[in-house]
Amino acid sequence: MGQIEKLLKYQEEDSKLLNIEREAANSQEWKNYSQSKSFLTKRAPEKLESMDAKAREMTAMLEKLNKKYEEIMATIKDFENIDELVEEGADIQFYKKNASQLTEKLKSIKGEISALVKSMKDADEEYQALKKKTITVQKQYQEYSVAYQEYKKGKIAEMEKIKKELEVLAKEISPDVMKRYVAKRSERIFPIICSVKNERCSKCGMELSIVGKEKISSGNVTECENCHRFLYKE
Ligand SMILES: [Zn+2]
Repeated sequence: MGQIEKLLKYQEEDSKLLNIEREAANSQEWKNYSQSKSFLTKRAPEKLESMDAKAREMTAMLEKLNKKYEEIMATIKDFENIDELVEEGADIQFYKKNASQLTEKLKSIKGEISALVKSMKDADEEYQALKKKTITVQKQYQEYSVAYQEYKKGKIAEMEKIKKELEVLAKEISPDVMKRYVAKRSERIFPIICSVKNERCSKCGMELSIVGKEKISSGNVTECENCHRFLYKE
């Protein structure tokens, strides 16, 4: 039996394993398990981090606005003795204008502060919701994890049998070719071995190179230059 026939036989057995893997990847058990895991280990911590950063930013902003507010309040207080200033011959129009400008500014800062306080309240609600969800998902994760382990247990015997068979078949194939096969398999290329039709890869349609054509006609393993599958002549 030539390399290609051996590879084809290996691939046929391997496709059984692939089917189980695909079934597992599409199972509700896996989806529940992996989604809750990714929420707990990735999405929730990322969200928490960005909320923390936002909270720090808002706190700093609030401090800044409060300080500004106090400064203006202090300046306005200076106007309390405007009567004395006027008596001393100061320009009352100037002070009036100044005072009304400051009052306007104060109003706008007050507005900014209350908007910010509202944002902070919203952020806190969001944080509480995230905390609640995390607790729920933590509980679910325990259940989903058990369910997925159970699911896997049911498949393991079947998978082990196929893997043993694959080990036997792999011994017949040259290590270099096997290594390349395993690499392709991990890249989710499947089928890995394809026939050549009219000197083209039957999977992607790429024409064989001159070297490829020579290899094929001498019965050697060659790869499609486009999709990198092993090619053989039927
Ligand atoms: Zn191809």
